[in-house]
Amino acid sequence: MKPTLTIIAGPARSGKTWHCIERAIGARSPTRVVFPTSSAAETAQSALAASGYEAPNASFQDFLGLIGDLAKLEANLPLEIDPARRAALCGRICRLELKSDSFFGKVREMPGFHARLCRFFDDLTMDGLDADALELASELTAKGHAPPELGLDKEPIRDHWLLKMRELASLWREYRKALKEGGRCDLADLVKAAHEGIEKARTLPFAQLILDGFEGLRRVEAAILKQLALRRVRLVMTILDDPDRPRLFAVCQRFLASLSLDFDLDVHSLPAKKKGSQALTLLERRLFESIEQPGMVDEADVTILDAPSVLAEVESIVRTVRKLIDSGAKPEQVALIVREPERYRPFIDSLAARYSVPINGSAQEPISHSPIGRRAAELLDLLTLPLTNQRLTSWFSSAFWNLSRSDQAALRRASRRLRKGDELTNAVPERYETAKQYAQQLYAHRKAFLATSLGASPPARIFDAFQEALKALLLGKTPHLDPREAAASEALHRTAAAQSEYLPPMSARQWSEAMSRLWRETRYAYQLGQSGVRLISPDEPDLGSMEIAFMLGVKEAIYPRRVADDPFLGEAERAALSQAIAGNPDAFPDLSPRFHLRNRQDHADLERLLFYRAAAAPNKSLWLSFPRADSESEELASFFIGDVQRAVGPGGYRTLSLRVDDICPPEFVANDFDAQLREAIESDQLDPLPSFALQDPAARDFIAKVDRIFSVRELETLGACPFRHFAQHRLRLRTERYGMSIDQIGDLAHQAIQRAYKNLPPEADAATRAKELIEELDRLMAESPLPGEEWQLMLIKEYCEELLRLLAERESLYQEQFQTEPLALEWAFGMKPRPDIDPSSVAPPLEIRSQHGSVFVSGIVDRVDRAGDAMMVIDYKLTGSSNLNDDAEMRSLQPIFYSRAVRENLGAKQVVFAFDSLTEAKRARIVPFELSKQFNQMDWERQSRGRLIELRPNIRLKSIETRAEQHVIGLVQQLKNAEIAAQPGDHCALCPYGDFCRMAQR
Ligand code: SF4
Repeated sequence: MKPTLTIIAGPARSGKTWHCIERAIGARSPTRVVFPTSSAAETAQSALAASGYEAPNASFQDFLGLIGDLAKLEANLPLEIDPARRAALCGRICRLELKSDSFFGKVREMPGFHARLCRFFDDLTMDGLDADALELASELTAKGHAPPELGLDKEPIRDHWLLKMRELASLWREYRKALKEGGRCDLADLVKAAHEGIEKARTLPFAQLILDGFEGLRRVEAAILKQLALRRVRLVMTILDDPDRPRLFAVCQRFLASLSLDFDLDVHSLPAKKKGSQALTLLERRLFESIEQPGMVDEADVTILDAPSVLAEVESIVRTVRKLIDSGAKPEQVALIVREPERYRPFIDSLAARYSVPINGSAQEPISHSPIGRRAAELLDLLTLPLTNQRLTSWFSSAFWNLSRSDQAALRRASRRLRKGDELTNAVPERYETAKQYAQQLYAHRKAFLATSLGASPPARIFDAFQEALKALLLGKTPHLDPREAAASEALHRTAAAQSEYLPPMSARQWSEAMSRLWRETRYAYQLGQSGVRLISPDEPDLGSMEIAFMLGVKEAIYPRRVADDPFLGEAERAALSQAIAGNPDAFPDLSPRFHLRNRQDHADLERLLFYRAAAAPNKSLWLSFPRADSESEELASFFIGDVQRAVGPGGYRTLSLRVDDICPPEFVANDFDAQLREAIESDQLDPLPSFALQDPAARDFIAKVDRIFSVRELETLGACPFRHFAQHRLRLRTERYGMSIDQIGDLAHQAIQRAYKNLPPEADAATRAKELIEELDRLMAESPLPGEEWQLMLIKEYCEELLRLLAERESLYQEQFQTEPLALEWAFGMKPRPDIDPSSVAPPLEIRSQHGSVFVSGIVDRVDRAGDAMMVIDYKLTGSSNLNDDAEMRSLQPIFYSRAVRENLGAKQVVFAFDSLTEAKRARIVPFELSKQFNQMDWERQSRGRLIELRPNIRLKSIETRAEQHVIGLVQQLKNAEIAAQPGDHCALCPYGDFCRMAQR
């Protein structure tokens, strides 16, 4: 006879979870209430606490916790399953077992791969597999009828696939062996011990087990339930279901059918609660059903909002929440349902703080994204790489620790002045005593840290030295970490300690590279607040009750979510292995005939159900919002929104569409600040100042300060977009860099050229030149490594080397043709001497006179070559050369002012201006008419695309120069009026301030 399983079935808002809690409250015998995740268990416990009741005989936990408790009944297992330690151990196994030509050889050093592999083993364990079963199933699949798309009928493909599967099985075995040897257990050991515990324990610690929030059970979970039931534990399970809606609840009904094979089901159905707005009641009843009659409600409790960007979307929602709270809504009854936390959370964090909206929830991010993670990685570079002034300046620019601003500034200034071999401590003036001490500490820790690895050292020793340095230079200066930083710091230490236990002896630099990579690939969780508006994911098994829900980012590919293939086993492989196991009962007596490895389709089937559960969760109002564009592409609304509209009918919803220039639409005014903003937008009485000019006198003075020297680049930015100039040059806003940008690759190539050319004799041939350039590139990459995975850096290096080889080749050809010889590199005018510019650069600024006064201009010219009486100014570019007419159209001022500066200061009679494009391998040039022969196009250049030469008579050169001067006078005049209107255009493509100006044209 089958054991009994009581099922409490009902649709969303039928009170299933509360039913569980009530049972727990009234339980007379010991009861466990089990959820799929620990966070769902915590939510239920909070609901119990909020209700004011107590459940003295019940405890709440997730299924893994339950397995752990059962395993403890008979075995004395070391139950710690610390993911960081397991991933580190798995890393050691990968390094020992895999060679460079193994299937997973290329990624054997990567912490992300190790962590993923551990999860993969756990996942297969939950399906009831072990390494032997996996290998046997693979052999049977290779021999049997695998689906044609796997290509296993072709011998080389089959061998390659078997290599992968055998490698996975072997890694799994070795990993389990290593755990055992280290006195630890893995999930499979726990499961085995749990079964033994249930079987042998004289009494079990509970008599009733309630399960809530499950939409399916893994093979291992089902087996444990069955065994518990046989020991007379009363089983109760809630299931999201409504037999009248078979389409929407198909997944749940399949789940019930599978349970009925092992249990006698005693089903109790709960109806949906009526409490709720008309539109939301309709939504709950009719979503995803075939509807014949349109809904007939006249309360638009569903709002569909589309906004031009994620920022505008979040801002409108947060303002609305603020207004709701101000009008009496309880924050705990409001939920933000977000499925892309990494995309949305930074905006939610900052806007919630601006509008004082308390947020309650948990979040995750890579350790390297936290301020402390970034600083720790910087510190590692500081301890192990050459101390360049750039590295020091960047370190001292952080306001993370408790140095005074003046001490930080003193250290920054000293770092900038530092020359090779100088001691920073000596460069800091005496009066900055704390700064001096700090510099001393830095040098002492650097010495101590490097001393740990004279040759190869045990990583644990290097880790100790790093902890000392971290404490003295970072954490000791910031004694009060906020909870988020404390969580990041704890994860940083935990993961580094775990890795250091298993890494082989290595140098301090190798250890620091391994740690930086580890922190980029490991995430930590932190709490966003204790109470307030709930920030939740629609994938949580229990969303709890709420009055108002805002579902953000309801767009294609998110609802329904596009599920990526598993990196170890693709869909076809999963299907083939499932078939091999299910079809071979002799080989797999415990798994056949109902064996099924979970696949993408299983996830996809849940998508409608998850959306329904989230959309039907609130009882007063629902907002569905999405951005029309993301930073890189256009976005489309999820087609589920159409289902919502059909379900509630035309009277049940309203739509709001924000335009790009809706900075603060009347609908969303939430506080005094917004009201003033709105007033300013609507006001026509701001004359004589135009509305895009700054109104506040102090702010006007700040931006209108024009009695200074302007760099040519600053003037170009001002001409392109005054708002960008305001953000970049006056507010000096800087964006955080995650990963690598194209600018960094350009900078790298640029620096390699400048450093190599300083050492190269003018007559060097192409091969010598290329060698020197590439060696310089190697040195630079070793001194200041770019962020990114190793394999990415290798590709970038190869790419840069190719660009430099091409440059070396064309350099010799150009010198021969143009009869030029190098005169100066990084030649500057209007600037104070700096280590990175030509020491002979003492040229005064250019002066542009006008009736309103003079404007002074500075600049740094990449390179000047002499060609008899004439000179050639060269500007290096990574990507395409500028349009040769950009100067005539005032989009580029460099050719005009650099040429004039060289003429006036270096005595050139004529100046050729050239853009040397590294990727296009050409030198496009603006040539005075008289020099047309000398700088003419060469035969080998004819294959280049685009125009190479712009020939100009002197009169045209002069007229462009005069116009440029008038243009600059106009720009400075506009600055005096504090006009900062955003001016969108093609230049927005690379502008980092698009989210700030809201006018980006991309
Ligand atoms: S994105 Fe475009 S409009 Fe906005 S600040 Fe940048 S350049 Fe100006």
